[in-house]
Amino acid sequence: MPGEFDLIDWIRQTQRSSPLLHLGIGDDLAALKWPAEELLLVGVDQVVDGVHFDSSLHSPRQIGRKAMNRNLSDCAAMGCLPAAAVAAVALPGDFSLDRAKELCQGLRQAGDAFDCPLIGGDTASWDGKLVLSVTILGRSAGGKIVTRAGAHPGDGIFVTGPLGGSILGRHLTFEPRIQLGRELAAVATSMIDLSDGLSRDLAHVCRAGGVGAIVDKAAVPIHSDAVELSRRDGVSPLQHALNDGEDYELLFTSAGKVPHEIRIGQITAEPGIFIRGEDGIPRPLAPLGWQHEIGH
Ligand code: ADP
Ligand code: MG
Repeated sequence: MPGEFDLIDWIRQTQRSSPLLHLGIGDDLAALKWPAEELLLVGVDQVVDGVHFDSSLHSPRQIGRKAMNRNLSDCAAMGCLPAAAVAAVALPGDFSLDRAKELCQGLRQAGDAFDCPLIGGDTASWDGKLVLSVTILGRSAGGKIVTRAGAHPGDGIFVTGPLGGSILGRHLTFEPRIQLGRELAAVATSMIDLSDGLSRDLAHVCRAGGVGAIVDKAAVPIHSDAVELSRRDGVSPLQHALNDGEDYELLFTSAGKVPHEIRIGQITAEPGIFIRGEDGIPRPLAPLGWQHEIGH
C-alpha cells in the first residue's frame, strides 16, 4: 500500500528550482535566500471539504488550485509578490495516491503561474474530510505594501471586476490579481481582496480606517453569474453582487482617478456604511457577506 513517503518522494523529484530557493523539499525545513532590504509577509489560508469545495464534485486539481490561489489573492491585496508556499494536507483515508498527486499538482501549477514555488509541507491521512492549508510567504520587492487601514474621507472606493454568483464556478477558477495589485499599490490608500463579499469586506476596510462609506447602487458591477443565480433563487442580482463571497477581485480606496477600475462609491468621515439608489437617499448597507460561525 502506498504511503505518505511515496507522495513526498514524488513531490521532491518533480520540484523545480527557483531563484530564492536555497534548500527545497526533502529536509526538515526548506531554506530561502531572502533579500536583506525586503519585508517578508506571511499568511495562511485553509480550505475544508463541504465549506470551500465539495470533493464529490470538484477534482483534486481544482481544489489544490483554489487553496493556492486564495493565498496568492492575499498577496495581491497587500501589493506584494508571492515568494514561496508550504502546504499542510489532511487526506481522507480512502484518498488514492494518484488523487493526492493531482492535488499537489493543482497547488504547484497555481503557484508556478506566479513564480511561487511549493517548497514544503506536511501530509497526514485521517478518518475525516479533506482539509488543505497553505502558508504563503510574500515579498515587498521594492513596492509599497497596502493595508486595509489607510482609507481617508473623500477617497473613491473601487473594485477591479464584476461581482456575485461565484458559486456557479468562479470560486474555483478565478485568477489572483497579483500584477494588478502591484500596480494599484502605487495609488491605493487601502486594499483588500473580496473573499467574504463586498458588503462585509468594505466593512473591514471602514473599521480598520475608522471611516464610513457610501456606495452608489447603480455603480456596483454585477457579474452575469449573479444574474443567472438570481433566476434560480429569486434573490436580486444586486444582492448577490453585494453579499456573495469568493469573487477574489480587489476592493481598494484611492484619492485620485484610477483609469480602468470601477468606482462604486466614496469614503466618508462619519462611520457607517450606506447604499444610495436613484432617490438619492442613503440607506444602511448591512454586512451580510460570509462569516464562519463559531460555537453553533
Ligand atoms: P517531518 O517529519 O520533519 O515533518 P516530513 O516527512 O513530514 O518531515 O516531510 C518531509 C519533506 O517533505 C519536508 O521537506 C516537507 O516540507 C515535505 N512535504 C511533506 N508533505 C508535503 C506536501 N504535501 N507538499 C509539499 N511538501 C511536502
Ligand atoms: Mg511533517
